Amino acid sequence: MITFENVTKTYHNGKQIVHALNGIDLTIERGEIFGVVGFSGAGKSSLLRCVNLLERPTTGRVLVEGQDITQFSKAELRQHRRRVGMVFQHFNLLNSKTVFANVAEPLVIAKVPNAEIRKRVMELLEFVGLADKANHYPDQLSGGQKQRVGIARALATRPSILLCDEATSALDPQTTSAILSLLKTINREYRITILLVTHEMSVIREICDKVAVMERGKVIESGSVFDVFSNP
Ligand code: ADP
Ligand code: ADP
Repeated sequence: MITFENVTKTYHNGKQIVHALNGIDLTIERGEIFGVVGFSGAGKSSLLRCVNLLERPTTGRVLVEGQDITQFSKAELRQHRRRVGMVFQHFNLLNSKTVFANVAEPLVIAKVPNAEIRKRVMELLEFVGLADKANHYPDQLSGGQKQRVGIARALATRPSILLCDEATSALDPQTTSAILSLLKTINREYRITILLVTHEMSVIREICDKVAVMERGKVIESGSVFDVFSNP
């Protein structure tokens, strides 16, 4: 479903050159919950952002359903981004907008008719357990509730891939478990492939099928969670 072929990403910070990704080869199969784990600065976020081209690989190819997304035209990229939802560590909600409007945002941008927006947003809020909070503002919600809004927004365009960037790292352990269980439900019930990055091994153990361990821009180990973590 997603294939990285010899992907590199180099940032230029003034005079400093950072090799954030250093020859990544990785395949994520349809329907998997695939975790990428590693310390801060390993390149996890850069890797994730290459799937929706929030970051563009410096060299290499990223194939999604067999298509090299780095070659997409503007219109194709717009289309592509609708099939890839993203969830962030700090939720990235618009504080001046209601919960409803936050979830509606990607649909408004996609010019979905208003009646359809209303229907879909209320279904999504129902699904994440926040239908009664539609008219609230993000400031009035707990961290876990904010992330549920973030997840509902990510699902609004009915994506086939969900990217999660440290989605539970700002949450307490109990809330983390609830959000991870929601992600699992999304994966199993909606058949959405999930690619998540985290610095927390416990997150990988709790929901991932496969894992890649990253260090300094490289994948140093990958496979099923069982195989990778049962190695002596
Ligand atoms: P991780 O998600 O594992 O913490 P990142 O992909 O965020 O790793 O970062 C990898 C390296 O790239 C780090 O050294 C980081 O400072 C650098 N980096 C990330 N994003 C940028 C950017 N937009 N500009 C410059 N350097 C960046
Ligand atoms: P704008 O782009 O004008 O700021 P919003 O982002 O606030 O609009 O809202 C996007 C869409 O969602 C609009 O069609 C708006 O009418 C609708 N909407 C916003 N909040 C609610 C709500 N609580 N219940 C029903 N519809 C809403």
